[in-house]
Parts: sequence; C-alpha cells; structure tokens
Amino acid sequence: MPGCVIGCSNEYPLPSGKTISPIEYETAWAFGAHCEVSSLDDIGELNWLSNDLGLDTIETGGTLGVLMEAGIIPWGDGKKALEALEEVGKGSPLGRIIGQGSVFAGQAFGITRIAAVKGQHMPAYDPRGIKGIGVTYATTPMGADHTAGYCITANILKVGGIVDPLKREGQLDLSRNLQIASTLIDSTGFCLFVAFAILDNEDAMPTIVEMLNTRFGWSLSVEDALALGKRTLKVERDFNVQAGFTKEHDRLPEFLMKEKLAPHDIHFDIGEEELDTFYNF
Ligand code: SF4
Repeated sequence: MPGCVIGCSNEYPLPSGKTISPIEYETAWAFGAHCEVSSLDDIGELNWLSNDLGLDTIETGGTLGVLMEAGIIPWGDGKKALEALEEVGKGSPLGRIIGQGSVFAGQAFGITRIAAVKGQHMPAYDPRGIKGIGVTYATTPMGADHTAGYCITANILKVGGIVDPLKREGQLDLSRNLQIASTLIDSTGFCLFVAFAILDNEDAMPTIVEMLNTRFGWSLSVEDALALGKRTLKVERDFNVQAGFTKEHDRLPEFLMKEKLAPHDIHFDIGEEELDTFYNF
C-alpha cells in the first residue's frame, strides 16, 4: 500500500517471463513445504496460476496436498501439481474437484485426514505445537483462519506477552482477546499488521480510537471500541448459527487429537468442553 512503512510485498520474475508479486509467506508454505515442492519457480507458477484463476493459495495448496495424499499426483512434483491446477481453468472433472477445495477433494478421493475447519484449510501453523492458534482455528466463525486471532504472537514471537505454545493453559484467553482485537482492527480498515505495534505499545490502541473519533466525530473510549469488536465477533457467530453451524463445527480434525507431532511428541489436547466456553463473554 502506498505510504506503508512495512511494505511487505516482493516481486519474483518467473522463467516463463511472467512476474509474480508477491510470493507471500503462506503461499510459499502451502505450495512449498506442505506439498514438498522445493522449486521456488514451481511455487511461483502455482501462485501465478492461482491468482489468475481467483483461487486462494492456502486452500489450493491444501487441496493439492490432498491430491498427493490420494496418489493423484506425486508428493513434491511441482510440474504435475501445475498440470493438475491447469485443469481448473479447463473446467474438467478433476479441475472442478480441485476448484471446490480440500474438503471436497477429500470426499471425492476418500481422504479423511484433512487439516480444515468449517471447510477451510489451515495455514502454515500446526495447532499441536502452537495450541493457541488451534483455538483460533476451531472457534473463529471464518474457519481455519490464522488472521482471525494470530496467537503466533505470544506463542512464538513473544509479542504481547508470552504463552507457552505447548501447554493448554492460557490459550483460550489468548485467542479470545486476539480475536476481539483483530475483529475491531479489521472493522476499521487498518492492515492487520498494525497489531504488532498495538500489542506491545500501550499508547497504540488509544491512538487508533482517537483516529476513529477524529474521523467520524465519535467519542469512543478504548473499552467502547473493544465492545464493538466483541459485538462484531458475536454477530459473525450468530450468522453462522442461523446458517446451520453448531458447536460441533468448532472442532479441529480428529487426526490432530490422535497423531502426535515430533519432536515434542504432543497432540492437540484442548478439549471440547473448554472450546465450548469460548463465546462466554
Ligand atoms: S499488507 Fe499491510 S504491511 Fe503489507 S504493504 Fe500492505 S499495508 Fe503495508
């Protein structure tokens, strides 16, 4: 964005002559580490084609992973992954399956081990080793969305406090507070990256509220603004309830509760009863 001091974009010239801008972190993971594709050129081509087709790159990387798990394309074969993704543009049966996302592809090919919540594939953080983000994946109305409550902050980056990522304690409160603050920031139109400044600077949130008050002639306090965040989150949740979602949708996939993650040898162990208290605010 013009004027942004972070400027988080990049440009990557592809061997085919096209330029992809940017290859974003989540995209590099989804097509790269997740699919075991090591060629950055292949990752860039998959990124370019996803953009051209209008597909989300996290979901598409997750879907190609399902195809690899099903043996439709080999793990790590970026060229075959690209050929499969080109089918979306042709409207072939395989392309239509890929275009519907990871859960649909899993149903089509008999794969049940899919890292998705509410039909949305997880991004680059395994909730077994970063339990706060697991609470966010399970409870946000948007599905497995890391941006809804980015617990990587206190779990990994030591921003906005420290909560041990491997332990259950404190994860629900961390995720809830971040989801409320993120909903507020999203509602204002700010880029979510301002959260890093807000979380460790006690003057930041009052300044944002002052900006809102100046722009709109309001006289909100910080508490009023956070109440807006809470209300927005509950409105989103209520939309889901009216659309047929229940607490059974606020769950992580079963394999994350059963398969242990190396090297810590842990699974996701925040139980259903605890998750069901998330909206008690
Ligand atoms: S996404 Fe956010 S941090 Fe990145 S350039 Fe745009 S405004 Fe700046």
